[in-house]
Amino acid sequence: VFIAFEGGDGAGKSTQVRLLAEVLRARGREVLLTRQPGGTELGAAIRDLVLHGDHVSPRAEALLFAADKAHHVDLVIRPALAAGQVVLTDRYTDSSVAYQGAGRDLGADEVHDLQMWAVDELVPDLTVVVDVPPEEGRRRRGEVHDRLEAEADAFHASIREHFLAMARGNPQRYVVVDGTRPAEDMHAEVLARVEALGVL
Ligand code: C5P
Repeated sequence: VFIAFEGGDGAGKSTQVRLLAEVLRARGREVLLTRQPGGTELGAAIRDLVLHGDHVSPRAEALLFAADKAHHVDLVIRPALAAGQVVLTDRYTDSSVAYQGAGRDLGADEVHDLQMWAVDELVPDLTVVVDVPPEEGRRRRGEVHDRLEAEADAFHASIREHFLAMARGNPQRYVVVDGTRPAEDMHAEVLARVEALGVL
């Protein structure tokens, strides 16, 4: 079972991934909790280069994030799925489609195709979009941690719209949770949806 968590910066994705991992482990499932960018040694180097470099051209940014995923899927995610583990990832291909495709204006379709090539068409069973308004995300993040977080609210607003549009286009594979609600409430909603997959 492969579940991705997506959403803007400061939405509370990481908390939700962690809460779901705890419950699944308590139920005896083996869980791999990972993240993108940065789920491998190479990925961590890419993450550092892209997020903390002085300037990275938008296309280079898209390609480097695609390389991070290609490597991560080959080395970590596919083997874990083959071993029967539940894989939870904090961000996946939709982040690239939203950030580089919509946010950086590279074209959502083009970036989607690039991402699908990079991951050799590995699509999650369920994608959870944790949704918060950009101003709320900025307030929660506090100080700026990287180049992308430093972008204006308009950049984050277009990313948010894109996540929501992807979810609307495929309600079977996506669930949108309101990230302004208490973490425990969101978690209950996520868990119900995971249980409804019927694979646990
Ligand atoms: O959520 P996390 O802290 O791991 O994200 C790291 C940074 O990378 C965030 O600022 C996020 O906006 C950015 N990012 C991106 N494109 C992606 C994935 C993450 O710009 N495809």
